[in-house]
Amino acid sequence: MTLSILYRGPLSSCNYSCNYCPFAKRKDSRETLERDAAQLKRFITFVSEQAGIQFKILFTPWGEALIRRYYQEAMVTLSLLPNVEKVAIQTNLSCRLEWLNKADKSKLALWTTYHPGETDRATFLSQCRQLDELQVSYSVGVVGFKEVIPEIETLRAALPAETYLWVNALKKQADYYTAEETATLSAIDPYVVNNMIHYDSFGKNCKTGHSVISLDGDGNMYRCHFIKEKIGNIYTGDFTSALYPRTCTNATCGCHIGYVHMDDLNLYELYKGRELERIVPDRKPLSC
Ligand code: SF4
Ligand code: SF4
Repeated sequence: MTLSILYRGPLSSCNYSCNYCPFAKRKDSRETLERDAAQLKRFITFVSEQAGIQFKILFTPWGEALIRRYYQEAMVTLSLLPNVEKVAIQTNLSCRLEWLNKADKSKLALWTTYHPGETDRATFLSQCRQLDELQVSYSVGVVGFKEVIPEIETLRAALPAETYLWVNALKKQADYYTAEETATLSAIDPYVVNNMIHYDSFGKNCKTGHSVISLDGDGNMYRCHFIKEKIGNIYTGDFTSALYPRTCTNATCGCHIGYVHMDDLNLYELYKGRELERIVPDRKPLSC
């Protein structure tokens, strides 16, 4: 059995200050960080004790976790466990990177996001080059604000062709992008149109709650980050009895970490096992 886990502990702080983000420059108290670290340690112990399950884990923190040494150590430890197939994390890539040498790099990946205005392009690219030298897999993402499109084009041109750059489309306002902007973004990220949609998901089959779960630091299990109905707890009893095929109870699903698991969309075929770190392995040739 393979189980994908989207883990989000109590940490909710960040060293960046993106003006659209509620976690910008937020600080966690020492107590919160200690609780977060203790819960993470308990989670690692849990994973290490489930010899019969292969895990794919994506950390999706509120804020930036990889600047904390205990997350770096958690990534290393998990990557070295025989029953962990993949461990990935969403990060702004501002942390130091030499710790990655201690990990099994064949099983570790980073979902990185470039935040223009919070760091400069040269610094971000230098971090990417380090990842290339370390042979660590990663995707690069950018939030697709209109005013940032030229910067995204420049970043795309500067990244190695084999590095997948995805764009998170703005969806709150219908027709936010002109046809020309959509064409420009599609030349950068051939799959951006997949992210321009709020998918009708009610009643549709979704792997969450069966082979994918969302987890909080207390071990509470949810289907996904978007349905707040608890389905069990990994630390109490046989948690696997809570895992079975389900259909979605929300009207729509609009985030990659959710809709990628919808059966109808067949996106597992596109990502070929790399859906957690959001890497499309066999992409169309780039036009730039
Ligand atoms: S880097 Fe991410 S978590 Fe931090 S402020 Fe920006 S959007 Fe928020
Ligand atoms: S379709 Fe989206 S909202 Fe619905 S269960 Fe799946 S991940 Fe959750």
